Amino acid sequence: MEQVTIVTGGSRGIGAATCLRLARDGHRVVVGYRSAAGAAHGIVEAVAALGGHAIAVRADTALEDDVVALFEAAAGLGPVTGLVNNAGIASTLGRLADVRADELRRVMEVNVIGAFLCARQAARVMTRGGAIVNVSSSAATLGSPGNYIHYAASKAAVDALTLGLAKELAAEGIRVNGVAPGFIDTEIHEQTGDPDRAANVVSRIPVGRLGTPDEIAEAIAWLLSPAASYATGATLRVAGGL
Ligand code: NAP
Repeated sequence: MEQVTIVTGGSRGIGAATCLRLARDGHRVVVGYRSAAGAAHGIVEAVAALGGHAIAVRADTALEDDVVALFEAAAGLGPVTGLVNNAGIASTLGRLADVRADELRRVMEVNVIGAFLCARQAARVMTRGGAIVNVSSSAATLGSPGNYIHYAASKAAVDALTLGLAKELAAEGIRVNGVAPGFIDTEIHEQTGDPDRAANVVSRIPVGRLGTPDEIAEAIAWLLSPAASYATGATLRVAGGL
């Protein structure tokens, strides 16, 4: 069966690497993005250069109408068989006592509501079975004290989504898994307000370096593939020992 996979947040970082990795596995790829149209279309061209097929679709995953339209656009490539629920945002570093309510709300809207809306839509359209991978974070089980507890909590919600939906959809032939990256070298860290974020965290990582987007894409590709046919409800930690 032709694999048609939506990658939310496919324009940059982990999502972009995942689009390219999946194209190599023969997936037709839907590159979801919110604002970086140029980057998203660059990924479409890179997929084409690999001999694959992709389209770019603008959709803010926190908005229900955008998510419905994203899945409708994806159906133009064939029945949707995969979702990489990757779009996400970080937050300014700080203690909970200092967090702004609007920032708290936005993190929950994108990381939780957005992930749930996309998973819901996948559950509705994957009538022939399929696979979902939710991108969590090692923060979900570390708590991120002094940094962004709300971000960690949003990813713990994603882990609960993985567990519950895996059980709910198992009988329908839909597998639901997660990947929990540690610190990965992407632009997301610019949102923390700490220009030295990477240098400041590296001493805490047991393997002594940040991960690469390709190292996360590899885990996502495996969980989506038939090689992971008995894996569902799992969240695979790819965090350099964190
Ligand atoms: P990134 O480089 O900042 O890329 C984020 C991607 O998400 C972009 O494609 C962006 O689209 C998209 N996006 C953001 N908000 C969106 C929204 N409301 N609707 C649709 N798309 C949206 O981030 P990343 O590091 O690759 O992170 C990807 C995922 O991995 C996130 O869920 C993040 O929490 C998780 N993660 C990352 C790390 C890490 O260290 N990097 C660690 C653990 C977990 P535009 O390009 O259009 O803005």
